Amino acid sequence: MKVAVLAVQGAFIEHEKQLERLGIECIELRQAADLEKEYDGIILPGGESTVQGKLLKDLGMFDLLKEQIANGMPVLATCAGLILLAEGISNDDRTYLQTLPVVVKRNAYGRQLGSFHIEGEVKGIGVVPMEFIRAPYIESVKDDVEVLATEGDSNHIVMVQYKNQLAMAFHPELCECTKIHERFVALMLGK
Ligand code: GLN
Repeated sequence: MKVAVLAVQGAFIEHEKQLERLGIECIELRQAADLEKEYDGIILPGGESTVQGKLLKDLGMFDLLKEQIANGMPVLATCAGLILLAEGISNDDRTYLQTLPVVVKRNAYGRQLGSFHIEGEVKGIGVVPMEFIRAPYIESVKDDVEVLATEGDSNHIVMVQYKNQLAMAFHPELCECTKIHERFVALMLGK
């Protein structure tokens, strides 16, 4: 099994370390030619979605990446990665890959004070640490999108699954807990 981690900007090294903990090989997607390589799943890391979206276009990676995800390639997306996948962004005119039928709100907890840590329940996984950093949340989902977690006592949706796409507003790569990445491995194995 091999995972391709988008490595144009943001917290990709931390995802690679999580994969290493699980003994899973990874490669980095840095340029269009990397998208021709063989792999079983893609990770879209956190960072800055506007920068990542622009780089994907400038580097000629956007269309092929979108096509692969739309065609069923398993994807784990965190924070900015979730924004890249979202069909709509309520507080921004820009949209990106639009393969995930949800509407997100960027920087939904405020820009500066928007970073916090909680422990939260994820459906089918149990309690996991959730690190939020200038995070979005999901305002609405369309049919067939499964809500896997909400934040604290709020009704803010912070993790969903839609077919091959597992997306969350928090950062599961910034803790020692590997449960979310294990769930992604199960998705790649078709479980
Ligand atoms: N605020 C960032 C954005 O809008 C996301 C933050 C993150 O990925 N930690 O892209």
